[in-house]
Amino acid sequence: MSQHPTIGDTLEQTVDRYPDRDAIVYPRKDQRWTYAEFDERVNRLANALADRGIEKGDRVATVLHNGSEMALTVYACAKLGAVFTPLNFRLPAGEIEYIVTDAEAELVLFESETREAVEGARPSLETVSEYVYIDDDREEAPEYATGFYDLLESGSTDRPDVHVEEDDVYAFIYTSGTTGRPKGVVHEHRSMVEHNLLCIAELDLTRDDVGLSIMPLYHCAELHCSLFARVHRGATNVIHHEFDPEAALEAIEAHGVTVLFAAPTAWNALSLTAAETDVDVSSLRIGLYGAAPMPERVLENCMDHLCEDYVQAYGMTEIGPAGVFQPPEDQVPKQGSAGLPALNHRVRVVDPDADPAAAVETGEIGEILISSPCTMREYWNRPEATARSLREADGTTWYYTGDLGYRDEDGYLFVVDRKDDMIVSGGENVYPAEVEDVLFAHDAVEEAAVVGEPDEEWGERVVAYVVVDGVDAAALDEFVLESDRLADFKRPRTYYFVDELPKNPSGKIQKFKLREDEADVDPESETVA
Ligand code: ATP
Ligand code: MG
Repeated sequence: MSQHPTIGDTLEQTVDRYPDRDAIVYPRKDQRWTYAEFDERVNRLANALADRGIEKGDRVATVLHNGSEMALTVYACAKLGAVFTPLNFRLPAGEIEYIVTDAEAELVLFESETREAVEGARPSLETVSEYVYIDDDREEAPEYATGFYDLLESGSTDRPDVHVEEDDVYAFIYTSGTTGRPKGVVHEHRSMVEHNLLCIAELDLTRDDVGLSIMPLYHCAELHCSLFARVHRGATNVIHHEFDPEAALEAIEAHGVTVLFAAPTAWNALSLTAAETDVDVSSLRIGLYGAAPMPERVLENCMDHLCEDYVQAYGMTEIGPAGVFQPPEDQVPKQGSAGLPALNHRVRVVDPDADPAAAVETGEIGEILISSPCTMREYWNRPEATARSLREADGTTWYYTGDLGYRDEDGYLFVVDRKDDMIVSGGENVYPAEVEDVLFAHDAVEEAAVVGEPDEEWGERVVAYVVVDGVDAAALDEFVLESDRLADFKRPRTYYFVDELPKNPSGKIQKFKLREDEADVDPESETVA
């Protein structure tokens, strides 16, 4: 018997402290529940799922946009000890089939927007015995599925009679699939409770905070950094079904939103919209962002039109995701940095080719390793990948991030690129992100991805896949030369013109597909040097 709480306990603690404070506000369905009301519904759903045969350890998959239903499901699973397995709602049938089968899910929850994809996958989903459909005023459940709200009605309000331990599995969270097929990250209750505390501390969350969820809850960034931390603290969660900048700004005013997480691209859209409206967003006290550093111009716009203070998080699904934070006071002086290790975290930068790992000098680029109390147990069914990623040294487990970066003289981490994307040309390292930044500065370049191509003389040569509007390779090459920002070995030798770049469903470019020649290249593509 342990005294360490589980994710289900974090909700019950909050109910004990603040039963009457607002927990969930879901304007799309006019739902507003206090913590006591939310918890009662969580119990109902958990008991109803148990009545349907879901037991501790069973995987419950969701293919859902944001909604109160997602919040109910994750806590219901936590109380049952069932394994919450959220899928990206943009996945096509083939990807749903891959993940649901890999996870061996028992039950799938879906909705009108994801019905077509789920039905496309359904004939192949052999492990699934139950389907639950978000039925509401607009939609009836298909005949093979149970309606979510019918199910909710059917369950008892008692606390489910299941003993869940701190080291039981809480979720399988699949990675984004940027560098290959998504991997199932196995997270335990204890590590996620630790992660809650981290986010509460780094954002100075209080019970008076009101958060707005506009980023997808299927991704651990919104789920853990926003919803979980706020529920643990007793703050309020306003949930938007999907991201709409205007609606988000109106919600900030209507609900007195104080804290918001968004990717830099979404912050950009919010600040541009805010500049053109007179919606009152003065309640917003802090903005969180991650996935990439905030470009200077976007940060300035956000400061002008939204709020003063921002926190950046760097990390990945495997560590919960946040492991490095850049607090508000460092945003301007350390622009471009990801910040300093989070509380209880250690960061090392090592020579990626040395075994055992040897730390590199200050300012030198190497692979980023993180030691975190929020680290995954393993990748589901992938012992080799787990062994590569989690390695023991100096009495701790280090997670090998696969990201390259360096620490400056003050210890601040700068993320440079992904290790697998680095190009070695004539013995020199080329970091594609640096080359892409130069190309992006050209007005006619809409998208750019720089990769290495095998070359007899140089080992690899630098080539660029670009989506452009009326510019040829010679002009791009001239622009690169004139920018005077790239050494000659970093200069793209060939420009491949494409209509679009291969992306995962979250919009990240999948360079492995370019390296495997999967892009549809325009015959106008040219070699310039
Ligand atoms: P897969 O592991 O399946 O290839 P993925 O790595 O894109 O997908 P995530 O866990 O969602 O899946 O993303 C984590 C990655 O995002 C990190 O490894 C890093 O490359 C990038 N990242 C996250 N936060 C930041 C940040 N603040 N600055 C720069 N890069 C970041
Ligand atoms: Mg990854």
